[in-house]
Amino acid sequence: MPLTTVKLYGELDSREAYIIRDFLKRSVVGYEWVILDGPEQLKERAPVKEDDVVKLPALVLPDGVILYDPSISEIASKLGWLLKPQLNEYDLSIYGAGPAGLSAAVYAASEGLRTIIIEREAIGGQAGTSSLIENYLGFPDGVSGAELAERARQQAVKFGAEILLIRNGVKAMYFNNKLHVELIDGSKVISRSNICATGVQYRKLNISNEDRFRNLGIFYGAGASEAPMCINYTVYVVGGGNSAGQAAIYFSAFAAKVIMVVRGSDLSSTLSSYLLSRIGKKKNITVLFNSEITALYGDIVLKEIEITDQKKNISKKYAAQKVFICIGGIPNTDWAKNTKIIRDNGGYFITGADLLINGIPAQWELERPPFYLETSVPGSFAAGDVRHNSVKRVASAVGEGAMAVTFVHKYLQETY
Ligand SMILES: Cc1cc2nc3c(=O)[nH]c(=O)nc-3n(C[C@H](O)[C@H](O)[C@H](O)COP(=O)(O)OP(=O)(O)OC[C@H]3O[C@@H](n4cnc5c(N)ncnc54)[C@H](O)[C@@H]3O)c2cc1C
Repeated sequence: MPLTTVKLYGELDSREAYIIRDFLKRSVVGYEWVILDGPEQLKERAPVKEDDVVKLPALVLPDGVILYDPSISEIASKLGWLLKPQLNEYDLSIYGAGPAGLSAAVYAASEGLRTIIIEREAIGGQAGTSSLIENYLGFPDGVSGAELAERARQQAVKFGAEILLIRNGVKAMYFNNKLHVELIDGSKVISRSNICATGVQYRKLNISNEDRFRNLGIFYGAGASEAPMCINYTVYVVGGGNSAGQAAIYFSAFAAKVIMVVRGSDLSSTLSSYLLSRIGKKKNITVLFNSEITALYGDIVLKEIEITDQKKNISKKYAAQKVFICIGGIPNTDWAKNTKIIRDNGGYFITGADLLINGIPAQWELERPPFYLETSVPGSFAAGDVRHNSVKRVASAVGEGAMAVTFVHKYLQETY
């Protein structure tokens, strides 16, 4: 059930309008998307005031207030979502509100810990961008990632967890056995323990022009908000993993044709068999194997792509306006560069027994070995995709979030 309903007016290929649509969709805010030819048209369609400086995109809130070309934090603030931390100190701060962070928040708050969760973007993380999660326990018909995340948010709030959205830490320091974090809006969060559940962010193609066409034809992730805009288009989905497979199936219900661009020579080693068989049955999905996008062309928006068959060494140009990149991600752990937290070569946090493979690390300060899911800094835990050797599934992220809370209790008992 959408929490609120708003109306978004904008031009067809507006990058800014896409960012707002994506945020609204992931935040389960119901919206109507109205395409206009320019700002002048808005005056005929919306309750514009005489002295308003009219700009697109424009968002009309339920109370009739119009936000012109708003930032995401302006929208969140008007929807009443930008709260300040309520307490001087928390038992647990959680970074990231994907499945791992939300699960940790539900268990921690329900078990009486003073809990705060800080999310850089929207609730749900990668899962929140998924159109239909079909392999999560208890949802035989599948559940959209945004709906799952919204339910988890309500559950965490019900138990008393505080959630700060569109905020991230800019400075973190450990002293007196506590983590002191300064957030981007200047507020401070002090906590006796923390769980990092910051997941991964989409990997790019790394070809020239890519940033120029971002959200103007090139989209990262499954872009669930974009599917209704793909009717009669040929949609390209890059990647051969489950998120790419799921995106291809979802878009096939809207687009005229879906073309998967896959680097490998088959899908069976990278795709779950239920997705593989479903793709095989969809007449409007084609898979190009051994292929990569090697160039992008267009003026303001993307118009054409070059696909190279790496086996045959043949490159061809195709008309393309909608390309979705689903090629995995890199962990959001840059903030830990200057801390004592040990990361692997890919940047993932090493936790628990994995820290002991070459003996006790020099940074480790306690007599006892690190708990499972504990990083090389006592009281700092990692859960979900951000963790070295994690499984990269919603269920395992949820499980790790819950499990991390058990170790948080043990750690807090030690430090009383
Ligand atoms: C399109 C798609 C479809 C998928 N489908 C399935 C499926 O069907 N079944 C399945 O089991 N798995 C699926 N997955 C994988 C699954 O979504 C992930 O394994 C899961 O979301 C990982 O959860 P997480 O909480 O560890 O991390 P994420 O979901 O990555 O969440 C991390 C959160 O941390 C936030 N963050 C990052 N940095 C900071 C910071 N510095 N401060 C604060 N917040 C920060 C991010 O904004 C994000 O919200 C899919 C993934 C994608 C992309």
